[in-house]
Amino acid sequence: MSDEAGSLRDELDRTAAWIASYFAHPQDYRVSPETRPGEVVAALPGEAPERPEPFDAIFDDFERIVIPATTHWNHPRFFAYFATSAAPAAVAAEALAATLDVKAMLWRTSPAATELEEVTMRWLGRLLGVPPQWTGIIYDTASIAGFTALAAAREALDPSIRELGMTAQSAPLRVYVTSETHSHVEKAAIALGIGRANVVRIACDDAFRMHPAALRAAIEADRAAGRRPMAVVATVGTTSTTSIDPVPEIAAIAREHGLWLHVDAAYAGIAAMLPEFASLLDGLELADSLVVNPHKWLFVPMDCSALFVKDEAIVRRAFSIVPEFVLSTPDAAVNYMEYGLQLGRRFRALKLWFVLRHLGAQGIRERLRGHIALAQEFAAWLEAEPAWQILAPHPLSVVCFRYAPAGLDEHRLERLNEAILGAVNATGEVLLSQTKIRGRYAIRLAIGNLRTRREDVARAWEVLRECAAQCRA
Ligand code: PLP
Repeated sequence: MSDEAGSLRDELDRTAAWIASYFAHPQDYRVSPETRPGEVVAALPGEAPERPEPFDAIFDDFERIVIPATTHWNHPRFFAYFATSAAPAAVAAEALAATLDVKAMLWRTSPAATELEEVTMRWLGRLLGVPPQWTGIIYDTASIAGFTALAAAREALDPSIRELGMTAQSAPLRVYVTSETHSHVEKAAIALGIGRANVVRIACDDAFRMHPAALRAAIEADRAAGRRPMAVVATVGTTSTTSIDPVPEIAAIAREHGLWLHVDAAYAGIAAMLPEFASLLDGLELADSLVVNPHKWLFVPMDCSALFVKDEAIVRRAFSIVPEFVLSTPDAAVNYMEYGLQLGRRFRALKLWFVLRHLGAQGIRERLRGHIALAQEFAAWLEAEPAWQILAPHPLSVVCFRYAPAGLDEHRLERLNEAILGAVNATGEVLLSQTKIRGRYAIRLAIGNLRTRREDVARAWEVLRECAAQCRA
């Protein structure tokens, strides 16, 4: 064995041993560190080293400085945001992808990465019930996938903008969302020159779902005022409460008015793999694009976001510029660099392929069902206690609630719940997050981790009640 191969083996052995031990006991760490801002910077030198350093010295610092300042998303009692976790098989796949280090921009620069992306997207599409003629493309995040969908919507509306830019437009383009829509749509409007002011917030019903009648009225009013309606973004599983917009009704209106419909199912879309939740994607066949995030609820480590589009040619037209230095690929092949801003792309399909095979569709469905059942059980515990209040419907694996003992006004309830969440998270045993629901402060518990068991949720409930009692006192 060469010296290089020998030392690589040692380095990988130490890394593999560390990873295996980490995945065996992520609960040995505090979920969130006690680190203060600037502490990691202060622990590290101001300059990069001039001379080579031994791998072991770097690894020692990884253990000494990086790990104690890490929030452990793999911890079974991580219940914040959308809880996620990495399947170990996908972590191995990431190491292999880094080893191959292909830039999957052209078929020629990595035939395997290109074709594995086609295959895994076809597999995932079938599992979710995406219409078979749609095309799947992998991006880093739902934010970038959503940006790409809106760029395609702009291309579909007016191909001249690609060449002339927005300055040639006298009428503003309009995008319709709700107060619950994820903020990446506004960022996309900024980046595409549409402008935040042209992202129109449609009213929601009592269950935080877009009002189709209000959407229709807004589109008609915009048309009458000389504005150009361009796209609607419907959300299946909103970030705050996981509410589900009525896609079939919205799709009918979008169709009638010739608007692009993007369905943002970044978190909840994966649940459409369950026959009992297949209706989550009802109406999709009338939409134009869909995003789901394997890095959210499909146990694929960050980052991996799947965009499915009805007509891939529009996405390609929106972005395709083929420089001379990359030409000469066989015509029949897909060149993914034509479908977005990036030239070089990571081999993300590899980890998705490993997860889909290693857990199997059945294994994935079992885990999703388990998460949903745990969240429903947690909600039942809340319901059984009069002092606790559920603040939104909880169809999936997220529950929004607060401690609301009688006799406190809204202001004091907010202060109390803020204090409870602070105390809960300060224990380091569990991590939850918060949101605002119609102006009320809500604590939010999300379940989505491969390693979360019933006893972890029960412990979160115990800690919540203990902290509520302390804070009330
Ligand atoms: N869409 C929804 C509904 C989300 O909840 C989120 C993030 O939580 C996003 C989009 C953005 O996801 P990403 O971090 O992949 O950009």
